Amino acid sequence: MAGEHQTVGRFAPSPSGPLHLGNLACALVAYLSARAQGGRFLLRVEDLDVPRCPPVWAWQAMRDLEAIGIEWDEEPLWQSRRTEYYEDAFRKLDRMGVLYPCFCTRAELVNPSLAPNAGDTQRVYPGTCAGLSPEQRRVRSLTRHPAWRVRVPDREYMLRDRVQGVYRENLKTQCGDFVIRRSDGLFGYQLAVVVDDAYSGVNEVVRGRDILSATPRQMYLMELLNAPVPTYAHIPLICDVHGKRLAKRDQALGFAVLQQRYGASGVRGMLAYALGLIPENRPVSMAELVDLFDWERVSRKDARLPDTGKETLQ
Ligand code: GLU
Repeated sequence: MAGEHQTVGRFAPSPSGPLHLGNLACALVAYLSARAQGGRFLLRVEDLDVPRCPPVWAWQAMRDLEAIGIEWDEEPLWQSRRTEYYEDAFRKLDRMGVLYPCFCTRAELVNPSLAPNAGDTQRVYPGTCAGLSPEQRRVRSLTRHPAWRVRVPDREYMLRDRVQGVYRENLKTQCGDFVIRRSDGLFGYQLAVVVDDAYSGVNEVVRGRDILSATPRQMYLMELLNAPVPTYAHIPLICDVHGKRLAKRDQALGFAVLQQRYGASGVRGMLAYALGLIPENRPVSMAELVDLFDWERVSRKDARLPDTGKETLQ
């Protein structure tokens, strides 16, 4: 068990393909922060969507993390094996009366007449299924398995992110009731992440800034489930030399290719440089990075990989 004040960090990839350098950058910063504070570091495989996340990618991710020098302290958690915990939380929320079944189809949900959420492509759910009568629900469930949404309050949630600063969102007006269980029965990421971080005693969450806007939803679930709120750091995204965000399909920028060319310390150096941790692009040891790690150094803007002049980085 973690001591009272010990930092517990984690990396929680969704392995639907090979890790890209952006994923590795998150893993690296999460690891450095935990270790620099003498804390523990955990790994969680977010393979909730089992068909999209065959275990081969999780094993590959572990090999890549090890190759770059990132070690974790306990057996990794696999979300695909933790359904009973999500069921438990789901039942608890249901007993509180905050859940309702939603029969909306995907086509109805992407209806362009729904207002997009400010600053992101997510649309505010207009509450179509929030007020269905028991009879309406019964009739609809004859032809369609419902997803389950959680009712949100008309309240602003605020976090102080270590990198992004203050972030606020009113869940009612900027998000709407959101899905925690899909119509195919699979639990959603928002619920699983809250249940698992609480279960593992995680108190420091470091992840990509693309997830910042999900945080108020998670804070709301923490409140309902009586789970402690961790500290947050949403780090910049890593882009290629042209400033284009990396994606899993960018094989040429895959860790394997780069490691072969530059060695693990070379790739570590590239990431550390792109993140602002070191002033020049050079090979660097993990011990040195742990020593010099300081949140003040972590860049606030999206990071570009250094141009090495090699075709793999073009
Ligand atoms: N599984 C998520 C991802 O790979 C990250 C979840 C988190 O760190 O909270 O994007």
